[in-house]
Amino acid sequence: MDNRHIQKHFPVDDDLLRLAGEAELLCGEMFRKIDTAAEENQCRVIRAFRELQVSETHFAPTTGYGYGDRGRDVLDALYAMVFGCEDALVRQSIASGTVAISHAMFANLRPGDEILFATGKPYDTLMGVVGIGRDTPGSMKEYGITHRIVELDGDACPDMTGIREGIRSNTKMVFIQRSRGYQWRNRVEPGHVSAISRLAKGIRKDIIVMVDNCYGEFVLTGEPSDWGADLLAGSLIKNPGGGLCPSGGYIAGNRALVENCTSRLYAPGLGKEVGSSVTDKRLLFQGFYMAPHIVAQSLKGSVFIACLYEMLGYEVLPRYDESRWDIIQLVKFNSEEQLVLFCRGVQEASPVDAHVRPTPWNMPGYDDKVIMAAGTFVSGASIEFSADAPVRSPYIAYMQGGLVYSQVKLGALLALQRMRNGEII
Ligand SMILES: *Cc1c(COP(=O)(O)O)cnc(C)c1O
Repeated sequence: MDNRHIQKHFPVDDDLLRLAGEAELLCGEMFRKIDTAAEENQCRVIRAFRELQVSETHFAPTTGYGYGDRGRDVLDALYAMVFGCEDALVRQSIASGTVAISHAMFANLRPGDEILFATGKPYDTLMGVVGIGRDTPGSMKEYGITHRIVELDGDACPDMTGIREGIRSNTKMVFIQRSRGYQWRNRVEPGHVSAISRLAKGIRKDIIVMVDNCYGEFVLTGEPSDWGADLLAGSLIKNPGGGLCPSGGYIAGNRALVENCTSRLYAPGLGKEVGSSVTDKRLLFQGFYMAPHIVAQSLKGSVFIACLYEMLGYEVLPRYDESRWDIIQLVKFNSEEQLVLFCRGVQEASPVDAHVRPTPWNMPGYDDKVIMAAGTFVSGASIEFSADAPVRSPYIAYMQGGLVYSQVKLGALLALQRMRNGEII
């Protein structure tokens, strides 16, 4: 592919553009696979919209108790149908992915129960929720809910023996994190989810298998519910929001489990009858409709970066031709300077705040300095192209998202150009 049209607007050297063209040729087969999966997912979504007879009236806001908010109910039903679950709870009032996951855990665990983390310790923001290594007021630990962590094995796969031995008489939930999070590790595949689910249910049928589905939605043509999970949760400013949702979280799963979540979100006995949508709901619907396409754009961006940077000698994870289970791409740089320049390139190609220069800073709660590049329409939305990294060796940039493939491609190229120019940081 001839990429010189980019030079009409951005100064990128000829040879880098040629290399980008070669990378895109190599990525062709992967791009086709991503498009096919996106098309299947899009068909599933359109079919659900049609079957549930989504119409303009469903987008309207409601006030007060929110009785008869048909749009709210249809949105729940849409998520449930598309994710192959019995029920779902999709709310803007669920402030983030962490809140959705925390909510689903608290709603379904009781004092004396134990939760087993089957893929290593959970995502950073959940440590305080569970009370791992700290005593956060209101944590599960404070409520007498205990936890056990089974680390991934030497191949970075779930340690099935460890999980079997870790399940006790009071284990009520087995928790799986689908995405890599901030770890240079292997992904968790559908086969792992089904194996863990079979193992847990073989020991006791009532063990709940829960998946932190953040960054995973629509990457494949099925969701963890198809692989034996009972409960999923995630963020609406990641994949399922399609880049349009201004905020929110979702929980989906077996009816009784979602009902527990509803009881906790509102009040036991009220069911799903209350909860007004004070703002218009169009973007929640439209975002979910766009999600398969947007996830595909972001996946293609990741594949392109993996290919281009590997051609230039950088270590990447996953490689461009590897199957993907989430939208995260990792690139290992050789120095702080490269890492910083990379983040600046990403920022420079952003639609918002492109003039801002990301700089490492001491973010509260982190041991090392952190650098973040994100120029997003929705604040903090990581379905939009963004990269961040703790500034320490090995210098790994974690990036994800991209509403538009061309932006990711441009960001990757501008970053290389900056590194080449050897700009002083
Ligand atoms: C983003 C993320 C979360 C938390 O979601 P927030 O919306 O940032 O609170 C939890 N788990 C994983 C794997 C994530 O990627």
